[in-house]
Amino acid sequence: MIAQEQKPIEEILGYLDGKKNIVIVGCGGCATFYHTGDRKAIDDMAAKLVSAGKSVTKIPMPFSMQVCDVEKSEVFLNKKRKALEDCDAVLVMSCGDGVQVATEYIEDGMGIVKPVYPANNAIGLVGGGPTKFKETCLSCGMCELGKTAGICPLTSCGKGLMNGPCGGVRVDNKCEIDPEKDCAWVKIYERMEKLGELDKFIEMRAPHEWSKCKRPRLFEIEEPVNTITAALGALPDFLSYAISSKPKREEEKK
Ligand code: SF4
Ligand code: SF4
Repeated sequence: MIAQEQKPIEEILGYLDGKKNIVIVGCGGCATFYHTGDRKAIDDMAAKLVSAGKSVTKIPMPFSMQVCDVEKSEVFLNKKRKALEDCDAVLVMSCGDGVQVATEYIEDGMGIVKPVYPANNAIGLVGGGPTKFKETCLSCGMCELGKTAGICPLTSCGKGLMNGPCGGVRVDNKCEIDPEKDCAWVKIYERMEKLGELDKFIEMRAPHEWSKCKRPRLFEIEEPVNTITAALGALPDFLSYAISSKPKREEEKK
C-alpha cells in the first residue's frame, strides 16, 4: 500500500487562498487505510474548510474504489460534474498518483480546467500493519531480493549497497546512518546463515541496474481485470477471513 499522511491544514489553506467553492475528492483505497481519504477524513476536512469560510462539495469514493483507478473514479466524478464545473478548486485526499489521475481525467476526460491540489503527502510502499508500517520497496523495477536473502538492500540499507556492509556498521550492528535501525547487511548475513546459504554472501553482485527507474515508467497489460468477477470470486475467501480474524480483533480490544 502507499502510505500517506495529511498535510498541515495551514499548507492546504494556503493553496486554497482566494478560492471559495471547493470540491473534496476522497480515495477509497490506500488513503482509506491511512485515514487520509475515508469519509470521516473528508468530513473533518470539510468542517475545517467551512470554518475557514469555504463552501464544500464532497465526492467520497466507497471502500476499495481508488481515485487512481480511472475506470471507477470517473463514475463518481461524473456524478458531480456540475459541482466540478462551478468550483474554484479541487482538493484530492489521496496519494500523488490519485491527485494526478483525477487532474488528468477532470481536464482531458471531462473538459473542465480547474486547479487541483493534494491534501496528503505520500510516503512510500509499505508493509506491516495494523498500525505500524515499514517502507519495504522502492518499486525499482529490477528486484534484487533473490540475491539478498529476501531483504531489500535499497530500502533497508541507508546507502543502498549491493555487496556487503560499509565500514560504518556500529558495534551493536546498528546502521552508521541511523542508530535506531539494524544494519541491513548484518540482517542479510544472518538470514543467509539461517538458510544455509552463506556461500552466496561472498558472491559478487552487479551494481543495481537503475535504468528501469527512468521516469515516468509506463506499463501496459493485455487484459484489464474484471473487477466484478474478481470481487465475486474473492467473496468466500473474504468471508472466511472475516470469520477467522474476528476473535483476534476482539482479543486485541481487551
Ligand atoms: S530490490 Fe527492493 S526496491 Fe527493488 S523491487 Fe526488490 S524490494 Fe523493491
Ligand atoms: S551500516 Fe549497514 S545499513 Fe547502514 S549504510 Fe552501512 S551497510 Fe548500509
